[in-house]
Amino acid sequence: MTPEQRALQDEARKIARSELAGKAAHWDATGEVPWENIRVLAANGYMGLVLPEEHGGSGANLLDLVIVLEELAWACVSTSLYVFSANAQGNRIVQLGTDDQRKRYVPRIAAGDFLASHAMSEPGAGSDARQLRTRAERRGDEYVVNGDKCWISRGAVADLFLVNVSFREEGKKGLLLVERGTDGLEIGKVEPLMGHRGSPSTELHFKDCRVPLNQRMSDGDLGSSLMSMSFSRCCNAAMALGAAQRAFEDAVDYIQTREAYSKPLADLQGLRWMVADMKVKLEAARLLIHRAAASAASGFPSESQAAVAKTFANEAALQVISDAMQLMGANGYSREYPIERLYRDARGFAIAGGTTQIQRNLIARSVLGRRVHAQG
Ligand SMILES: Cc1cc2nc3c(=O)[nH]c(=O)nc-3n(C[C@H](O)[C@H](O)[C@H](O)COP(=O)(O)OP(=O)(O)OC[C@H]3O[C@@H](n4cnc5c(N)ncnc54)[C@H](O)[C@@H]3O)c2cc1C
Repeated sequence: MTPEQRALQDEARKIARSELAGKAAHWDATGEVPWENIRVLAANGYMGLVLPEEHGGSGANLLDLVIVLEELAWACVSTSLYVFSANAQGNRIVQLGTDDQRKRYVPRIAAGDFLASHAMSEPGAGSDARQLRTRAERRGDEYVVNGDKCWISRGAVADLFLVNVSFREEGKKGLLLVERGTDGLEIGKVEPLMGHRGSPSTELHFKDCRVPLNQRMSDGDLGSSLMSMSFSRCCNAAMALGAAQRAFEDAVDYIQTREAYSKPLADLQGLRWMVADMKVKLEAARLLIHRAAASAASGFPSESQAAVAKTFANEAALQVISDAMQLMGANGYSREYPIERLYRDARGFAIAGGTTQIQRNLIARSVLGRRVHAQG
């Protein structure tokens, strides 16, 4: 990290610990949206961190963003997801949208008063995005959209959806920008997820939803859309890491004060080695995330580096948090301590943004090339 990045990290750490940590359990327990946190983070410029200065952002890079997200997730994963989303969806519009779309949406997203979500998954199309069935049919100067989406993070509160659709006449897939309140867009039920509860996911239903032609993103084909996921995957990995780092620190404090056999637990060799293994996983995950994020000089990072970082960080986070729970005994398993919440939040990261199996497919493809079916 450069001296500027260390300063950015210190500042994010201070805000996360003073403003976000105290009410993390509240947002988790109630499923309420942490608006007060979103306002503080917006006022401090985090919502538009990587967005261009000409569109109201701070012009920072993806490495800066993952450093910040780790600190925010340390304190409150639900809140960190809003900063992730503003930067990731804003960046998608910058990279894949038209000039007009950039001007209309990016400044508002950067200001933090206009939330955007990505709507790709459908009841019949998760990992296999090619199966998506939401279709857009051109009628005059509009597209008429029909179909259903599910698991859409922050669907309950987003002002704008970046929706993957299939353009009926062309047989091509692409991205449409659909504003909340558009006729024919219905926000469905809130998904009862085990974690990420302050960032509620919903279904979306499109019933003859009419969207002006100029809401089509200029470069939103399925290939570019999937490529843009690499950016989200670095962020996803950084937030999983933040949760794991928090669990690690809590467990390290705990075993230094709790005594058994007339000495602190931290004196037991078996537990000392667990701590060492946890530390190795955290540091390796951090380096992989930083390497992947740094590969995004502009635009999106390397697909295979992001997949390596996400796979390792998602799994390392779960192991570290599970070990932290073990180190804290029944207290680790109790809802009176944050560890169980961190575990539930971290678990979602291994599924969202492309499962760890899908990441392994991408990594294998980068090593072996595409799979060729034997003939005959
Ligand atoms: C917390 C959370 C937030 C989410 N937010 C969003 C969002 O904002 N927008 C959005 O569009 N979606 C979102 N999703 C949905 C997410 O993208 C999908 O859940 C994910 O892509 C997996 O799809 P699926 O659940 O349909 O599982 P499936 O695709 O049905 O997979 C089931 C299992 O099969 C495995 N599998 C599938 N294909 C392969 C393969 N080729 N090789 C090996 N194994 C395979 C998977 O890894 C998984 O273990 C979110 C999900 C979660 C949990």
